Amino acid sequence: MSQESVKVVIRVRPLNSSEISRKNSNIIEVDKELNQLSILDPKLISKPFAFDAIYDETYTQQQIYDETAFPLVESVLKGYNGTIFAYGQTGCGKTFTMVGVPGNEQLQGIIPNSFSHIFGCIAESGSSKCFLVRCSYTEIYNEEIRDLISNDTNLKLELKESADKGIYVKNLSMHPVKSVQDIEKLMEYGNKHRITKETNMNERSSRSHAIFTINVETSEEVDGRTLVKAGKLNLVDLAGSERQKKTGAEGERLKEGIKINLSLHALGNVITSLVDGSSHIPYRDSKLTMLLQDSLGGNTKTVMIAVISPADYNYEESLSTLRYASRAK
Ligand code: ADP
Ligand code: MG
Repeated sequence: MSQESVKVVIRVRPLNSSEISRKNSNIIEVDKELNQLSILDPKLISKPFAFDAIYDETYTQQQIYDETAFPLVESVLKGYNGTIFAYGQTGCGKTFTMVGVPGNEQLQGIIPNSFSHIFGCIAESGSSKCFLVRCSYTEIYNEEIRDLISNDTNLKLELKESADKGIYVKNLSMHPVKSVQDIEKLMEYGNKHRITKETNMNERSSRSHAIFTINVETSEEVDGRTLVKAGKLNLVDLAGSERQKKTGAEGERLKEGIKINLSLHALGNVITSLVDGSSHIPYRDSKLTMLLQDSLGGNTKTVMIAVISPADYNYEESLSTLRYASRAK
């Protein structure tokens, strides 16, 4: 895989009201020209981190979509696979970036924006092409896979492998959709079923990876033959990357934390090996990377959006996110 097929960008959210009331200072400095970001620390003079792009709080949801997701979705419509990840500490804007604020069109995130993009292209394409759009919504929690839009969202599903399908989730429901409204309804249904549990850090912090997948199949008559193209778009809202000390996790919660870190670690290793051009890509180290195997590497496109808080209070976590993201570069 060429380096251009993996993009790593940073999004810095604004200081939130509790950071402002705690009088936290903003420790992130962005050089937009050089696409470099520095994190200020009195004890350390750190080299600036370089990324494909850095988006500060002035960037709108639409700008983020146009710059990060648009080209990837275009390639999915041409029959390629692609994956967009939101990575970062809980409370830094992963769900805001992927889903946005429900009911607020200005603030809608990458997932709903991709719906309008895909169905807009289909509407414009004329009658010579036939489209079949299907979607699924899975959650990985504690290395267990669940279907967020099935009748029984508690059922654990298995990963299987076959010669023709590759690796797939057995019994995962696939839903044909014909309009933006159809697919929005499915997303909202699935969002309601995401497992969220309380930790000290964030009242309802997400402890799971959520993977919204849109399959787009196009068929077209070319010289009397039917040409079929199938592309797949995976939109992944990863679990919080925070370390467990800060969240005061014990028992079950700590076990979850270890498994979350395991799959985030495995994902980092897969992306690094792809970028380095390694002959062995360790897809099998986690459910997340196995499930996404056909959409990471080869001629697929990947975008990792790492989100951070600008507050000094989150220095350790932001540094860890920046290190993870720069390793994936
Ligand atoms: P995460 O999913 O990473 O835990 P959220 O997306 O839920 O974090 O964001 C936490 C809070 O911060 C939410 O209230 C969200 O609306 C707000 N927020 C996050 N990013 C931004 C941003 N770029 N601009 C404005 N508000 C944001
Ligand atoms: Mg979230």
